[in-house]
Amino acid sequence: MIEIEGLTKTFGEGPTAFTALDDVSVTIQSNEFFTLLGPSGCGKTTLLRTIAGFLDPTRGKLTLDGEDLLSKPPHHRPVNTVFQSYALFPHMTVSENIAFGLQMLKRPKAEISATVSEMLELVQMTAMADRKTAQISGGQQQRVALARALAPRPKVLLLDEPLSALDFKLRKEMQLELKRLQHETGITFVFVTHDQEEALTMSDRIAVMNAGTIRQIGGPRDIYDHPAERFVADFIGDTNFLKAQMLSTEGAGSKVRLSSGAEIMAKPAQGEPPATNGASVTLAVRPEHADLCDPNGALLAGSLKNVVYFGTDTHYHVGLESGEMFILRRQNQPGHTQNWATGDRVGLDFAPGTAQILKD
Ligand code: ATP
Repeated sequence: MIEIEGLTKTFGEGPTAFTALDDVSVTIQSNEFFTLLGPSGCGKTTLLRTIAGFLDPTRGKLTLDGEDLLSKPPHHRPVNTVFQSYALFPHMTVSENIAFGLQMLKRPKAEISATVSEMLELVQMTAMADRKTAQISGGQQQRVALARALAPRPKVLLLDEPLSALDFKLRKEMQLELKRLQHETGITFVFVTHDQEEALTMSDRIAVMNAGTIRQIGGPRDIYDHPAERFVADFIGDTNFLKAQMLSTEGAGSKVRLSSGAEIMAKPAQGEPPATNGASVTLAVRPEHADLCDPNGALLAGSLKNVVYFGTDTHYHVGLESGEMFILRRQNQPGHTQNWATGDRVGLDFAPGTAQILKD
């Protein structure tokens, strides 16, 4: 278990000082696939490098299974890193690359040989064992980099955007592969990405970061269905934001009034007391929770500005009477008869209770 408490990292001093990590606290469970997700520059790599020992924090505590890590140099931490660039030795073979770390640790020859074989099998590279790494594909290099990092059996594997150099299809394949490797080895993975889909599909839990702070920690479904604040709702998935007014809180739901005057039940903001009655709030509505309907008697009405075909679904851009823009998706299914065209006057309906209230 990694315990991070009040971790702060400030680069430079005086007026040019920049705080890349600002009082970050998080506990990562052992055997967990934990993802740090956030936009470029939010501090993901800084946090990863601090765990690895390549950076010293300005303040804070960092322990692994109760043991202080900050007092240990990188090579004495039971932690290994897979870099975006792989950093393999091009003049060495696949096997030699995997063996390298074990040789540095002066492990017995027989043990090194057995571990290399096991790692080759784990990443399905046995057939390429004697190739130079300069002579294998990017996806294969990625597998070797993983095998090399896993070979010394670290307690924690840190992965800094390891899939970003791969093309779309290979990336999808390696996402499943990484999940399998984590599962089979039981090693804690701390994975860095700015790709929300990657984070949702691979992680046990996600920490969403912004500007050096953690904004929300939770399972993929939890974060997607119950974003704690506007930044999280906006960064993960596509979200429509609508102005509304809080009317009352009734049990687990809250009644709000939309700009059209229509009243709906919505989910209250997570982990916060409900907004006071009469307060203006923002509603976050996922595109898949809304549907087009007849404008008469609809929750909201507007006109269709754009219809974009995506194969599996079609996106409809609706300009609402309030001036707000709303994008929704409809799955393209055989037998779908209703065709909406640009310029049509349309109504919007939401699945009951799916809109999430965010405090203004
Ligand atoms: P990316 O996805 O682009 O890699 P990131 O979330 O990993 O971004 P970091 O690399 O952790 O971001 O950087 C966080 C902030 O700290 C950035 O604004 C960066 O410019 C700044 N930073 C990082 N290293 C240093 C340094 N050595 N000196 C000064 N500022 C730095």
